[in-house]
Amino acid sequence: MRIQRERLLAIMQRLMQAGLNRGTSGNASVRVDGGMLITPSGRDVPDMLASDMIFMSDTGIWQGDPESGTKPSSEWRMHLDILNHRPEVGAVIHTHSTFATAVSCLRMEIPPFHYMIAVAGGDTIRCAPYALFGTSTLSQFVLEALKDRRACLLANHGLIVLGKDLEQAYDVAIEVEALCEQYLHASKVGTPSILSQQEMEEVLRQFSGYGKWAE
Ligand SMILES: [Zn+2]
Repeated sequence: MRIQRERLLAIMQRLMQAGLNRGTSGNASVRVDGGMLITPSGRDVPDMLASDMIFMSDTGIWQGDPESGTKPSSEWRMHLDILNHRPEVGAVIHTHSTFATAVSCLRMEIPPFHYMIAVAGGDTIRCAPYALFGTSTLSQFVLEALKDRRACLLANHGLIVLGKDLEQAYDVAIEVEALCEQYLHASKVGTPSILSQQEMEEVLRQFSGYGKWAE
């Protein structure tokens, strides 16, 4: 589990360096035997240690001391519910990255304006309805929006992405954030042209071997 703690910390550092997470926003989790490791609540990434990563059982039990100042991310429920409902998923990353969050505030799904939309697993990237962070209601909305997908927006909140491992989830997060930036730029000038269902089916066929869940 020590290596997974270090990989979780490394992903948080990469997300910060890439500008996807700022301050204490954003969190990540990785599946381990019996549950998950998740990033701590309210901790700046530069101050985060691998030993701060918190083990939570798959029933949501956390053994730590709440007085210690290190407790699981307040958004742990969403991570746990995804890992419990999606056995093919090994890691979850959540960001409040600028461009994905901006699109999420429009409460719209991202249409296939660019073929790379397929990186999220389908011909759209959905936006889950708004619900308070950390609630079961938000988990339910997110699970529905993630059906057959590895990314979705959370209305007025941010982005969540899945991967077979942390590195794959990171790659999808970077790509979706770039897509949101491109979509917003194009939308400022006009209405982006949308690829047809047939065109997207061709892309999805090409992508069928791309970023597989399992080798
Ligand atoms: Zn959040």
